[in-house]
Amino acid sequence: MRNPLKEKCGVIGIFSFEGRNITPLLISGLEALQHRGQEAWGIAVEGHPTFKRTGIVSQSVDAEFEKISKINGNVGIGHVRYSTTAKSTLEHAHPMDIGSMMDEHYFRIAHNGTLERELLLENLKDLGFSSPYGVTDTELMGMSLHRMLKNGKSWTEAFKTLNSYLNGSFSATILTSKGELIGVRDERGFRPLCLGWHEETSSYIIASESCALEAIGASLIRDIKPGEIVIIDRNGLRSEFFSRKKRHAHCPFEYTYFAHPSSKIEGITVYNARKNIGRILAEKYPIDGDIVVPVPDSARPAALGYSEKMGIPFEEGLLKDRYKRKGGWRSFIEPEKRESIVSNIVAIRDVIEGKRIILIDDSIVRGTSSRIIIGKKLKSAKEVSLLLTFPPIMYPCYMGIDFPSQDELLAYRICGTTTNLEEINRRVAEYIGASFVGYNDVDGLSKGIGLPKDQMCLSCTTGNYDCLKRKLKFKTREEMKS
Ligand code: SF4
Repeated sequence: MRNPLKEKCGVIGIFSFEGRNITPLLISGLEALQHRGQEAWGIAVEGHPTFKRTGIVSQSVDAEFEKISKINGNVGIGHVRYSTTAKSTLEHAHPMDIGSMMDEHYFRIAHNGTLERELLLENLKDLGFSSPYGVTDTELMGMSLHRMLKNGKSWTEAFKTLNSYLNGSFSATILTSKGELIGVRDERGFRPLCLGWHEETSSYIIASESCALEAIGASLIRDIKPGEIVIIDRNGLRSEFFSRKKRHAHCPFEYTYFAHPSSKIEGITVYNARKNIGRILAEKYPIDGDIVVPVPDSARPAALGYSEKMGIPFEEGLLKDRYKRKGGWRSFIEPEKRESIVSNIVAIRDVIEGKRIILIDDSIVRGTSSRIIIGKKLKSAKEVSLLLTFPPIMYPCYMGIDFPSQDELLAYRICGTTTNLEEINRRVAEYIGASFVGYNDVDGLSKGIGLPKDQMCLSCTTGNYDCLKRKLKFKTREEMKS
């Protein structure tokens, strides 16, 4: 999907038992996680001040190679960022420094996810802060944790105590002043986090996705479990739990759109999940068409699954122009510029002209780009039927994905909160100018991914926010970013 959705950050942490310099591995790992955020990036390595830059990793590494190559250490954390809760400035880039460098409870944290600020502010008040500073949810969580550590609590006790105020999602890596590496994941497991091993440097790696492990030649050990805290120091690794909830809420969007196709999350390879969903769409919507065309890039495996199941040829009728600045990875631009989102998608006229196209995409958020693709890019086709791997998005996400305002969501805007899928399919088709639209449903999504419905978050399609500690007030985009 080349839509205006933006991924919500990627984190990494590395600890080498052989005392090897882990900075090159941190950088390569972050490059592999770049699809999760491209506004800013940073690393914190023991013994060095936190290093942060705006833009993508490779640009700064090229420009500041000498400076970065002087950052040496055996333990460190890193982050690539897209902002969900604060303006996109270097000041808000991660890792964030919590406390002062001279203090023994000082730590640095890299966070993927979104937490409710109001609840965190309540906690800080209870802890005696009269006017807590801090703009981002990460800083507020950090301040509470810092105070609890100062009061003698262990990391696990601090998370246990703070847990009732942690409303939302977090997968985080932490570098402590004692040189420990910590990986921690919220009790529902909204965002992914995994543990790996790099043999060559005897290092544990904690990363948002296993594609980062693959990129540096490390192997995946396992996912970090929801509610788990993994603490790595020179004595080894210990795992503790600050919460044990049976009901997990893995985000299915990671499978259909966000995560890298090569990543394995909860034992499921993202590519396989996408391809399976394509097969399920073929069972649900067996359309008589000439060719199956994916909207690049994330819908490609699903289109292949659909094509194989139906015996209809798969064609790359739409291609991304990889020589345009953003062509190599997904488009991340502000909504007001969204018309240009699809400008780097080029249709191959000979492939599409006069054809009955079955177009596969992962989802529709605002509908603008689907309209442009169907109305402009594919206008020489005979007809276009659009199938979507994700069910209709009708409610905002408060767990780290950038569709905060309900009014922006096409399905809600034109269908209200109806649950009648046929009706939604019909109205959305009319709006975007397709001959037919067929959304997946939650059963198809669950079956395709291979995760039970009660282990997934489905709030943005069902409106059920039971996996949160309390439902948040729907906000506008401006309120979220202020
Ligand atoms: S609300 Fe939707 S996008 Fe957000 S975590 Fe849940 S399933 Fe994922």
